[in-house]
Amino acid sequence: MSETVFRTEGLTKVYDTGTVKVFALAGVDLALFSGELAVLLGPSGSGKSTLLNILGGLDHATQGRVWFRDTELTGMNDRGLARFRRDHVGFVFQFYNLVASLTARENVQLVTDVAKDPMDPAEALALVGLTNRMDHFPAELSGGEQQRVAIARAIAKRPDVLLCDEPTGALDSKTGVQVLEALKNVNEQFGTTTIVITHNAAIRKMAHRVIRFQDGHISEVVENATRLDPAEIEW
Ligand code: ADP
Repeated sequence: MSETVFRTEGLTKVYDTGTVKVFALAGVDLALFSGELAVLLGPSGSGKSTLLNILGGLDHATQGRVWFRDTELTGMNDRGLARFRRDHVGFVFQFYNLVASLTARENVQLVTDVAKDPMDPAEALALVGLTNRMDHFPAELSGGEQQRVAIARAIAKRPDVLLCDEPTGALDSKTGVQVLEALKNVNEQFGTTTIVITHNAAIRKMAHRVIRFQDGHISEVVENATRLDPAEIEW
C-alpha cells in the first residue's frame, strides 16, 4: 500500500452557535494515501467541507488529531498552518476567484512568482488544456475554462495534495467533464494526491476510493475495482 499522506484520529469539530452544538465532524478516523484520487460523497451538511478545511490547514479541529505525513497539524498555530498550506496544498473551490483584470497566464503567475519550485505558468495551463486561452481575461472564458485556470493556479506550485470542494458545482455536465479530466490528468501525471468533494454521485466512478459521509461520520469507504474516464461519466 502506498504511503499515508493524511491521517486523522477521532477528528471532531463542534460549532457552538449558542443555543445548539453542531457536531460537524463526530470522531473521524481516516487515512488518505499518496497518489490517490478520493471522492468524498454525502448529503449537504454531512461534514465534507469541514474535513477538507481542517486537512488543508484552513481550520482547527475541536478534538482529535490530524497528521500530514509525519507532521501533526493539530496544535499548530495559524502561522505554522499558513506555511503548511503554502508548501504543500493546492485548493480548488466551487467559485474560481480569479483576478478579473489579469489574464489566465497572469493569474497563474501570481502563485508561481512566490513559489519555491514552480512550473512555468504556460506548462500548468497546458496541463488543463488551455494552451490556446492563456492570454484571455476571465470574462472571455467559459465557467469551465475559468475553473481550469483555477486548477492550473492550484497545481503550478507543485503541491503534494490538491483539495477540491465542489469543483464542478457551478458547471453543466459538458464543461464539468473537462474540469474532471484536468483533475485526472494532474493526478496521473504528477501523482498529486487529489481529494474531490461532490454531491454528484456519478463522479464517484472516476475515483480510486469513494468515502461517504453521513452526519459527521464516515458511513462507507469503497475502493473502485474499475474506474471510468470522466468522458464516460453521465450526469
Ligand atoms: P458539507 O460539506 O458536507 O455540506 P459542512 O462541513 O459544510 O458539510 O457542514 C457540516 C455541519 O456543520 C453542517 O451542519 C453545517 O451547518 C455546520 N457548519 C459548518 N460551518 C459552520 C459554521 N461556521 N458555523 C456553524 N455551523 C457550521
